[in-house]
Amino acid sequence: MNAYTSHDMTAKITHEHEDTTNSDNNLINDWQYTLAQPIEIGGIGVHSGRFIEVILHPAPADHGIVFERSDVSDRDSIIPGTIQFAVPHDLCTRIENKDGVGVNTIEHFMAAFHGIGVDNLRIEIDGPEMPILDGSASPIFNLLKRAGLARQNKLRQVITILKEVEVDMGDGVIAKLSPADSLEIDVSIQFDDQLIGHQSMSYSNTSQAFIDELADARTFCMLRDVEAMRNSGLARGGSLDNALVVHNGTVLNDGGLRTTDEFVRHKTLDCLGDLFLLGMAIKARLSASKPGHALSTNLLKTLMNTPDAFHIQSHEDAPDRGQWAYPEKAVAVHS
Ligand SMILES: [Zn+2]
Repeated sequence: MNAYTSHDMTAKITHEHEDTTNSDNNLINDWQYTLAQPIEIGGIGVHSGRFIEVILHPAPADHGIVFERSDVSDRDSIIPGTIQFAVPHDLCTRIENKDGVGVNTIEHFMAAFHGIGVDNLRIEIDGPEMPILDGSASPIFNLLKRAGLARQNKLRQVITILKEVEVDMGDGVIAKLSPADSLEIDVSIQFDDQLIGHQSMSYSNTSQAFIDELADARTFCMLRDVEAMRNSGLARGGSLDNALVVHNGTVLNDGGLRTTDEFVRHKTLDCLGDLFLLGMAIKARLSASKPGHALSTNLLKTLMNTPDAFHIQSHEDAPDRGQWAYPEKAVAVHS
């Protein structure tokens, strides 16, 4: 028996959807997965305005999500997508290694990996920022689905929250992790513009919920902020094709909103992506008020610095795991 099963995601999702009593449904007590084949994806970086090319390569079990800057040769080009490498950034999630080489705007990719359950990838990127695509995780999900997932020979590690950890950054910007049996995310946002106002959402992470509730929610900004960002050298690649732009109670984008609460759905998507910086399945309830990337990375660093607040369960290999193999070999077997 080969340890890898070339695996169509639709089949996985259908299976999980049918068997709602299966603990795999919440992506916690499940095998690790990688891609069944590499994916190439290109697009504009929202802040740099550059066209960026990315290749998502399959990677072995316990590898994690690791980025590699193919345009950097004079310094360390490897940056693991984990909280230890996250650095403060106002508008996106940035990871950076000790040589100062980093990648910006990883959050929507991380959300898709977390939502669907993709544990191990080597991500080759030829610039400093992941492409923004349409501002949501939908194009990423569609590519992952087309490539298919390969099941690996190890179960996921699971981090369990044992006691509350809270970060309060002032002005109602608060996040708290508390014990739960699976990953639950409660988000509330408050914006002056009447189109957004107060919105809240409670989300339970399963692959189906990710597809139904979060994947197509786009990032957003206020028209007045666009000029300010451009003046500080940001959002050079921003356009109505990759972000909702809100002004005086309306969106300027053709076609309007995908759902009336698209804003809080996107903020929940961002939280899901940032939580995956822990690099494993999570048993916790995240309660976040007015969240942003600085808040979520601050919360995760606080958690890591509070050792009695969590427990990490490492799974041993399953007894029927068969012969260990690289995914590339498995793809060859199944093609
Ligand atoms: Zn976002």
